Amino acid sequence: MFYFYNTLTREHELFTPGPIIRMYTCGPTVYDHAHIGNFRAYVFEDLLQRHLEAQGNRVERVMNLTDVDDKTIRGARREGISLDKFTARYKEAFFQDSAALRLRPACATPAATDPENITAMIAMIQVLLDQGNAYVAEDHSVYFRIASFPRYGALAQVDRDAQRSTLRMKHDEYSKEEIADFALWKAWDEEDGDVAWQSPWGKGRPGWHIECSAMATRLLGPHIDIHCGGVDNIFPHHEAEIAQCECVSGTQFVSLWMHCAHLMVNGMKMSKSAGNFYTVRDLRQQGWSGREIRYALLSVHYRMPLNFTLEGIASARQALHRIDEWRTRLEEYLANVPSHTSFSLEKCGAVNVRDFFTALDDDLNISAALGVLFEVIRESHRLLDQNALLPTEVRALLDWWYKVDSVLAIASDSLDGDIPEEVQKLVALRQEARFLKNWDESDRLRDTIAGLGWSIKDSKSEQKLVRQA
Ligand code: AMP
Ligand code: ZN
Repeated sequence: MFYFYNTLTREHELFTPGPIIRMYTCGPTVYDHAHIGNFRAYVFEDLLQRHLEAQGNRVERVMNLTDVDDKTIRGARREGISLDKFTARYKEAFFQDSAALRLRPACATPAATDPENITAMIAMIQVLLDQGNAYVAEDHSVYFRIASFPRYGALAQVDRDAQRSTLRMKHDEYSKEEIADFALWKAWDEEDGDVAWQSPWGKGRPGWHIECSAMATRLLGPHIDIHCGGVDNIFPHHEAEIAQCECVSGTQFVSLWMHCAHLMVNGMKMSKSAGNFYTVRDLRQQGWSGREIRYALLSVHYRMPLNFTLEGIASARQALHRIDEWRTRLEEYLANVPSHTSFSLEKCGAVNVRDFFTALDDDLNISAALGVLFEVIRESHRLLDQNALLPTEVRALLDWWYKVDSVLAIASDSLDGDIPEEVQKLVALRQEARFLKNWDESDRLRDTIAGLGWSIKDSKSEQKLVRQA
């Protein structure tokens, strides 16, 4: 039984999965390398997805790439190259860093500027206009009329009236009816250079919020089970996503909203603008591995602010070292005894091993889960020292560890590390083809992957790769 904290209700709620868990996670704005604060959000989402899958559920997850906004346009113009060329570099970097942190690829990573997404955004805006939830301003921008959606503010629990009166003081955008109205479509201006799409309201580009609403509903349908992001996304981004989607579909957009707290540096949020950030590349260049960074990011509960320090990663390294040593001891023990069958282990000494997963069921209580892991390590060392473990028990302990690591993904030799990048990319493409029910493309990719020496076994939640003999 899963209990997760729902930002919408501010309560721990029972989460009962259906046959497919539809999950949407807000992705990066690709104007620079993502920093490890951004990756804290992605690592938390990965832990959530892996845990749900390890408990036998099927998860379909979409993550968007925001590849058009003020920052991407400014970056491309500064370098004198096209927006596509500029963002392609950071999309690639994002996928590389994600692989280094062992993030399971989403089923689809739609980019805002993909033609089918722009079409979906324009269609959605048109519905909002037709229904009176939006209006075209003098400059041909389109705004969402928040006065038409009384529930606006429910997620962030902001008082709309109070907000209106304080904001009106600073009102300098006179073309809007109300200052809190947000842009669905931004009319082209000179700063945008050659970045523009035609729409029924004139040329321009989509606003950030409509991007996520259109991509989420186009790929996952009008109702999503879990939507995640960092706490800074709650308002206005997720609030706006709810308003747009629910006005269009007439049904509840998301059942469960989950947000992670910030990664901090000396008491301040890690961010590009504060200049207090590290990228995954910075840290890898300093000699820290992807799994060490991953461990440092996931070992603190996702709703607690995490203060980033180099001592923090150093203790991640120590913790991983203890895990590696323990596992090697179990494997070496087994290498020296005749073959043995496995069974499902319940206890290791005084520790109930199932408690690892029960802890995660409880709003991803990672501290308790890691507590169980280290207790098991301590107990099994003690029992091995006393020669009090049977080979079958050691085998069962190792099998338990493999299942634990399917959630944590921190083992020293995770299979991912051995798979060539080209094959990993093809597997991600095949996952997307299968998600889009493009079976011919999926079969074609399977053949290409086989041509590179890897065969694929499809399971409920993932594609398992096996190197061909
Ligand atoms: P952005 O590229 O700024 O849209 O951010 C991408 C994701 O990273 C969003 O889910 C943000 O909420 C999250 N994020 C940004 N900064 C931090 C931080 N310091 N700690 C945790 N998450 C963050
Ligand atoms: Zn979003």
